[in-house]
Amino acid sequence: AVEMSNALLDGLNPQQREAVLYRGQALLIVAGAGSGKTSVLTRRIAGLLETREAYPSQILAITFTNKAAAEMRERVRALVGNVAEGMWISTFHSACVRILRREAEQFGYSRNFTIYDSGDSRALLKRIIKDREADVLGFTVSSTANKISKLKNELADVESYARTVNHGDPSDSMFLEIFRDYSRALSSANAFDFDDLIAQTVYLFRAFPHIAAMYQKRFRHILVDEYQDTNHAQYALIRELTKEPAERDPGLISAVDGASLTVVGDSDQSIYAFRGADIRNIVEFERDFTGAKVILLEQNYRSTQNILTAANSVIANNFDRKDKKLWTSVGDGDKIVGYTGYSGHDEAQFVADEIQTLHEKGMAYKDIAVFYRTNSQTRALEEIFIRSALPYRIVGGTKFYERAEIKDVMAYLIAVANPADTLAVRRILNTPKRGIGPATETQLANFAEKNQMSFRDSLRFAGELGLGPKVTRAISELSNLLDEASVLAEPPAEGDAASDGVPEVLGLLISRSGYLDALRRSQDPQDEARAENVEELLSVTKEYQRNNPTGTLIDFLTEVSLVAAADELDDSSGTVSLMTLHTAKGLEYDAVFLTGIEEDLLPHRMSAGEPGGPAEERRLFYVGITRARKRLFLSLAMTRAQYGDVSVAMPSRYLQEIPGELIDWKQSPGMATSRGGTQPRALNARRDGYGGAYSVPGNRGGSSYGSQGGAQNGAQKPKTEWSNRVTGQMRDNGDLVLAAGDRIRHTDFGDGKVLGVTGEGAKRIAEVQFESAGRKRLLIKVAPLEKL
Ligand code: ATP
Ligand code: MG
Repeated sequence: AVEMSNALLDGLNPQQREAVLYRGQALLIVAGAGSGKTSVLTRRIAGLLETREAYPSQILAITFTNKAAAEMRERVRALVGNVAEGMWISTFHSACVRILRREAEQFGYSRNFTIYDSGDSRALLKRIIKDREADVLGFTVSSTANKISKLKNELADVESYARTVNHGDPSDSMFLEIFRDYSRALSSANAFDFDDLIAQTVYLFRAFPHIAAMYQKRFRHILVDEYQDTNHAQYALIRELTKEPAERDPGLISAVDGASLTVVGDSDQSIYAFRGADIRNIVEFERDFTGAKVILLEQNYRSTQNILTAANSVIANNFDRKDKKLWTSVGDGDKIVGYTGYSGHDEAQFVADEIQTLHEKGMAYKDIAVFYRTNSQTRALEEIFIRSALPYRIVGGTKFYERAEIKDVMAYLIAVANPADTLAVRRILNTPKRGIGPATETQLANFAEKNQMSFRDSLRFAGELGLGPKVTRAISELSNLLDEASVLAEPPAEGDAASDGVPEVLGLLISRSGYLDALRRSQDPQDEARAENVEELLSVTKEYQRNNPTGTLIDFLTEVSLVAAADELDDSSGTVSLMTLHTAKGLEYDAVFLTGIEEDLLPHRMSAGEPGGPAEERRLFYVGITRARKRLFLSLAMTRAQYGDVSVAMPSRYLQEIPGELIDWKQSPGMATSRGGTQPRALNARRDGYGGAYSVPGNRGGSSYGSQGGAQNGAQKPKTEWSNRVTGQMRDNGDLVLAAGDRIRHTDFGDGKVLGVTGEGAKRIAEVQFESAGRKRLLIKVAPLEKL
């Protein structure tokens, strides 16, 4: 038996201890969320190092994200000190890049190869499809890219695919040609795409046993976290690495065994089937690795019993799974809190208020997380958080107004509002791609300089630059579009009816430029999300114009830049983490907010038609619930602004799967009672004449508000006071001087006393004790407050 220090085994339960100490060839740890899988993996590594059974360089640990890798390295370092340095703790992709960089020359690549991201791959595919005139056969970039990716994840290359393809089928043989062109183009460009990184490493090992043997001898211990989400290529890579080295070192007396392999996973948390992850990898582990030891962990150390019961009840609805019941010894804990907002903003306000309350009771911001299904849900959250001066950060994603597609579209608006802003005009010059290359851009810039005009104005003279007819036309069209939009953007004359200016301008720009269409046509899940974000921005402008019938484009841009400028708001006590449910895997927080628990979001509407889709979405919900240590909040909205429209949202089917007595509804679905106050917040605050003026063009989805002039079916109007007060007037309290002791009045929170002011300039924050609303932190510049 191995001798290990107490520090490494301290506090482990018998199964965990067994898992840390086991020394066979193959070990599978299957267990539910929060049962210590990752902890056990980490301690195994630390144990191998501490007992000197392994050098750091002999260990290869695979995690699912770079963040998880960094965390594991940190934990090992905490346990055994700096020897952790030489270890490979990384994702599959980065481990493979390392191997390929070293070995690329052995098979015709040079070590400075490029890695094509999905954008690069798509650009390449687009060209190939065009060259082959495959578009007439119905080939799209997305479907082709997805198919190639899938093949590569299954380790099918051009040759093996060619053997299976039906050559009589024109579509099949066309795809084969495209696949072949694509592979050739990649290799002549000395490039790998993302899927290649893994597949090529497997091919490398299979084609060159002496190279494989090097790594097989080197890595004596291979450990894989989140094993349930490995796909076939990744699985094959592990198989290759754990084989007995084929070429034995003549100097060695005895044969070298294959590396020991430890994998940990939970099939209930498999959420990447859409990327080819294969639960069978877990199920078939015992068959593939004969004599493998299987250890089950059943005690959960993360969550309270209430949270666990909720998680167990939800996941029990997936059939075709092994029933495993997690238990905990920490007690029931608080009830889960539920809330139904009138709108996404109302929901966000609830989240922000609850976070402030938790914070006042002593919970650090860094121990709180907010999860959502799609990135477009962050806008409402971010806006409310900024107004409430809540420090937050988006994990694994860019903030809404920092996203490339939002910046692109904003650049269009800026180019209209302020044509002197050359940066904005240049940004949109060839976005979407309209064939205007860098050389042309330079020509335009030179022309502008020579004739002392703005870059924008030089577009009007495209005809005089001796450019090709296509490019000339593209430039003129852009110039005309900007002119047309600027007429639309002019504020209505005095006495005229309120205009729909901003949404109309934006609508014109994103449709006529072809920007939105390009994203929609692409069908790439990423571009789909980008299109959603652009439509989300359209929702923003509609909402803005409803509240500011006379607000101009420049007013709107000012408003947005205020929101964006406050982005960097931070605080020494840490930040609240915002992330998608997918990103949340493996993490844990004291308090977790699961937002948007609605049909069409969770399960996502995209999953409806896919086999196993709803079951996978349920696992995603399960992953979300099981991130929470002490407090869990479930929220949804009755109406949601999405895809450019406001539509009625229905509570998610998964909500009913949680025993009712576990949830304390502060405001339950369908009920119009207010939390705390005497009147529903939304009604309380909403006074303007939105009902008649607002119409919803191009409504998709079920029922919708507004087109008949107002709320329907007795449901609440989909408005919150938030947008009213924020966008209702271009508020700027930038000059307002506040000091401790001053009394103020806030639109929503009522009267209160300033406790102190911190920060400078636009980022001054007042800490205010309100008479009835408690203590709040407010961003002075934008908060709807006045000094009494
Ligand atoms: P997930 O499935 O979500 O990835 P997991 O099985 O990897 O979860 P860990 O993250 O390793 O679980 O552990 C969950 C929490 O329980 C961590 O905070 C960890 O420190 C703690 N923990 C694990 N084992 C023990 C133990 N024996 N005693 C006390 N705390 C423990
Ligand atoms: Mg884990």
